[in-house]
Amino acid sequence: MPKPLEPVDRERCQADVPGPGPFTVGGEIGDPRNGYRVRCKNKPTVIATENQPGEDGRIGSMSLCRDCVVVFVRDLGVGYATLRDIMDPDKNLQEQLELAKHIQDQYDEEGGNGIDQDDANQLAELVMSLHEWIKKGGFLPTEWNRGGVSPELLEGHEDEVTDLLLEMKD
Ligand SMILES: [Zn+2]
Repeated sequence: MPKPLEPVDRERCQADVPGPGPFTVGGEIGDPRNGYRVRCKNKPTVIATENQPGEDGRIGSMSLCRDCVVVFVRDLGVGYATLRDIMDPDKNLQEQLELAKHIQDQYDEEGGNGIDQDDANQLAELVMSLHEWIKKGGFLPTEWNRGGVSPELLEGHEDEVTDLLLEMKD
């Protein structure tokens, strides 16, 4: 396995896979110093993070596709790295909102009969996976993560909130 690249690429697997070699016609030719290996082109599904720092004292991370993660674990062993699912909470939320809007439009247009089953199911999957992600300690979508209560929500309730904060201090 190659030295992990930095930073982690969520769009493309960061493993090197065997290339066709120097005397093959067609395909992409890798670097001879790297055994003619070329960068995998698949979309990654997990991020592998080393459990022990490398010789330079740093802990490496890399993204891997479904195929490469099997090779990674086979070559390096299960204890070598911690694997976690790739998740983009911002993208997930964006897709959720677009689908929800689309489903609402479908509902309005057809009097409730026009909702596409696949859209509804895809929305359900997005909700479930975002929930799983947050439950496991993943960070919130940026739009949800204000780090406090917005002033609009507080309006008219300032005294109650002040009281609550004082109570919490005790
Ligand atoms: Zn790969």
